[in-house]
Amino acid sequence: MKRNWEGLVLKAMGGRDFRLTVLGTESVDGHYQRLLFDDGGLLTAYGTHPTMWIRLWFDNGGRAHQRAYTLVDPDPATGRFTLEFALHDGCAANWAAAATVGDTIDATVQGSAFQLPDPAPEHLYLVGDAASLPAVNSLLDAGADIPATVWLEYAHEGEKALTPRARAHHDVTWVPRRDAGRHLVDTVREALPAAGSAHYWLACEAATTRDLTRHLRRTLGVGKHQLTSLGYWRAA
Ligand SMILES: Cc1cc2nc3c(=O)[nH]c(=O)nc-3n(C[C@H](O)[C@H](O)[C@H](O)COP(=O)(O)OP(=O)(O)OC[C@H]3O[C@@H](n4cnc5c(N)ncnc54)[C@H](O)[C@@H]3O)c2cc1C
Repeated sequence: MKRNWEGLVLKAMGGRDFRLTVLGTESVDGHYQRLLFDDGGLLTAYGTHPTMWIRLWFDNGGRAHQRAYTLVDPDPATGRFTLEFALHDGCAANWAAAATVGDTIDATVQGSAFQLPDPAPEHLYLVGDAASLPAVNSLLDAGADIPATVWLEYAHEGEKALTPRARAHHDVTWVPRRDAGRHLVDTVREALPAAGSAHYWLACEAATTRDLTRHLRRTLGVGKHQLTSLGYWRAA
């Protein structure tokens, strides 16, 4: 499969390539596919951090199709990690649903670099959905002692099949996806406070993420260093 211009740009930016091998595959209620991978040396080369993601190269009829996925429970000692694919009709999701043990896929590491602020924030406000739930879970694990308020958008009941890794001081609210994401934006805007000692992390559909980011920055005056936001997928 020939890579497109994205591959050249990533290489020029220092992105390194690794070949991953599928070691196991498990359906999560038919709505997510959880794949265990051998990392091909990736974790030794890069270490790990919360929300760490990689770019996978899927073959779309001979053309390269690059999509990002989040490492779940990466273990440098064994060189293994899991990826949890939310299933919909897309090239990446379809590849994951059909993958079998021994299949390989290429990955590039470029662009992922999140660390929880030091000193730790007094509160985490996290807004995500099925695509970013693996990243939300890595934040709840990494900041296990930090109180957190989490909103998760779901398009259908099946998306709740993946369990948030919430502790007693983590408050999780599932919000149905309505009006192309407007309902989540309104729900979060109404509830979200501006708090100087908090960190805000947003990763939803692109337009939803943009709306909430604007609200935090312009309406609530949240500082850049207190906010991490990235659109995780784009509605058609
Ligand atoms: C940093 C980062 C980390 C990510 N980590 C994960 C992860 O761990 N697990 C995960 O499942 N996703 C994750 N995503 C999201 C994933 O990359 C996108 O959903 C991607 O578009 C899927 O590619 P595809 O080839 O399956 O579908 P595409 O070819 O991109 O899209 C095909 C169709 O599916 C729709 N679509 C795409 N994604 C979704 C979705 N999530 N929900 C509903 N409809 C969708 C599109 O609107 C389009 O109509 C991550 C994204 C980023 C930016």
